[in-house]
Amino acid sequence: MDCFEPPVRVGPSEYGLGVFSLKSFTTDDWISQIEGEIIHDANYESDYCMSLGESSALEPTAPYRFLNHSCQPNCSLVEVEVEYDDGTFVSELWLQGEKDIAPGEQMTIDYAWPAESAIPCRCGSAGCRNWIVAYEEIGLIEADKFRSSLPL
Ligand SMILES: [Zn+2]
Repeated sequence: MDCFEPPVRVGPSEYGLGVFSLKSFTTDDWISQIEGEIIHDANYESDYCMSLGESSALEPTAPYRFLNHSCQPNCSLVEVEVEYDDGTFVSELWLQGEKDIAPGEQMTIDYAWPAESAIPCRCGSAGCRNWIVAYEEIGLIEADKFRSSLPL
C-alpha cells in the first residue's frame, strides 16, 4: 500500500497544521494506513501518539501525525489485525471515513484522551464536549473540577 501517495495534504488550519482531503470519501471508506513506529510501552506519551490498546502506541509519521481533534469528527482510527505470510499477527492503524468528506475539507478524528490528559476543546462542532477527552470519561473531568473547587 505504501507506494501510493496519501490522498491528503498538510496545511495551516485554525489550530496549527491540519490534514486536508484531496478527494471525496464516504462513510466507511478506508482512507489510508497510518504508518509510524509502534512503541510497546504502556506509559509512552508524546504529542502525536495514538493508542493501540492497553500496552502499545503508534508514533505516526506525516501526514497523519497532523490530524486535528473534533468532538464530531469526519474520520476515525480503526485498529486492524493483519496476518502476515509467516502466520504472525500485526496491528495496523487505519483511517476510515466517518462521514462524507469533500475535497479540501479538513479531516479530523476524536482523540478520545483519558480524563487525566484532557485539555479544553474549541473544535466548534455542535456536539463539542468542551474538553478533548474520551466520551466515557467526561464524568471524571467534572468530578476533578468539582473536587478542586471545594474548600480544603
Ligand atoms: Zn470539541
